[in-house]
Amino acid sequence: MKTFITKQSLAAYLQLIRASGKTIGFVPTMGALHQGHLSLIELARQHNDVVVCSIFVNPTQFNDPKDLEKYPRPIAADTHLLQQAKADILFNPGVKEMYDDNEQWHLNIGELEHLLEGKFRPGHYQGVTQVVYKLFNMVKPDTAFFGQKDYQQFLVISKLVELMNMPVELVMCPIKREDDGLAMSSRNIHLSADEHRHALVLSKTLNWAKANFDGSNFDVLQKEAERMINAEDGVALEYFEIADGGTLHPADAASKKVVALVAAKVGKTRLIDNVLLRS
Ligand code: AMP
Repeated sequence: MKTFITKQSLAAYLQLIRASGKTIGFVPTMGALHQGHLSLIELARQHNDVVVCSIFVNPTQFNDPKDLEKYPRPIAADTHLLQQAKADILFNPGVKEMYDDNEQWHLNIGELEHLLEGKFRPGHYQGVTQVVYKLFNMVKPDTAFFGQKDYQQFLVISKLVELMNMPVELVMCPIKREDDGLAMSSRNIHLSADEHRHALVLSKTLNWAKANFDGSNFDVLQKEAERMINAEDGVALEYFEIADGGTLHPADAASKKVVALVAAKVGKTRLIDNVLLRS
């Protein structure tokens, strides 16, 4: 595996790859890699000749400075995992490589930015679109792989690609879970054993909603799901929404795709998860 820390050296190498007719699959991450990330690498390997993974903890998408500060950065272990997963290229730039001092711009991606996650993390998706736009321009991938785990992020990036006419195919990859159902996340290492146990209410409630969805009982499901999560010790619910899978507005009978999305704080750790009720 080759590692690059500058955009120039990455671009020069990728130009040779493209000139040889090979396709490039791209998996952007913030590191602290787990099986969820590695499943994206595996899918990228199946779809493309060359797999690029980026590890960059993007400061502009953190609305809480403490969250940014304590975000795990185990780069040696990550490099080892990427080698084992047979990624071809790691791009691991520093902040100065990605941003000029006081760089201030963002794309207007419309209301998606302000719903659900956007309400609880103001500015988050401005940071996400900034960094993904830059990374796509540097890597110029044929295909980019993102997790369903960050469902709204996938819609935001789809909008970015559409607005900016970026020639990249986006693939949404299934959520990887621990054996007990907890969605894998780099933030899970902050959970104590007790908190981990309490956090299981999120995936349990999503599964319950899926099992009890009859095609039109949106309100009943939502209220009962909220009750179930609120009844769990140590879990502070931020939202549980049954949303249209395309717009993220509340779902209704006309919604072709329906997704239940949840966000909650367990202790100091903020977790998100979702499940498709209709796809
Ligand atoms: P992150 O490092 O958290 O920014 O995530 C990098 C990519 O991995 C994003 O596309 C995430 O949606 C995806 N991802 C994170 N957790 C999981 C998971 N449990 N299963 C599948 N993909 C995931």
